[in-house]
Amino acid sequence: MTAEPRCQEVQARLSDAWFARSGFAGQDLAHAGSCRACTAHRETLLALGHAFDAETPPALPSARAAAIRARVVAELAAPATAPARRALPPGYPSELARLLFWALLPLPLVVAWYALLFRVAGALLGTLMPELLIQALGASFALVVASWLALVYGAIPFAAQHRAMRRNPEVSP
Ligand SMILES: [Zn+2]
Repeated sequence: MTAEPRCQEVQARLSDAWFARSGFAGQDLAHAGSCRACTAHRETLLALGHAFDAETPPALPSARAAAIRARVVAELAAPATAPARRALPPGYPSELARLLFWALLPLPLVVAWYALLFRVAGALLGTLMPELLIQALGASFALVVASWLALVYGAIPFAAQHRAMRRNPEVSP
């Protein structure tokens, strides 16, 4: 707020007093009376205090508190009625393995293709753009590719479940 050491000390003491909820010291108030920066600091603290006071939550009527408490106790005492987890369809593991196999098979090719693309694009752009910009472009491109791969491979378990359920229609809900 201000570079003057004396003002920093005064403002630190004002803050300490505010946090301790004790009154401001007379000497600090006297200084603030003739210093605009310290007056502003003191007014900020006072405004903060008013804001906090206004935010004090209203007290809960005791009857309402008792009702809430009774409901919480009843809910905690009730037996857990979590719905049983639906079992995965019977063909799921083999479907998952099959899909994973076919999805992972071209992965080295995909990675090699993008690595080549990176190198060619880097060499082509190297004459036109600064190195740093190319690196940033490459990083964002790699992020997009990685996101797509994550999306595709992340969808495999769901696809496997869907296919297994289609093959065993009697299991599906
Ligand atoms: Zn001051």
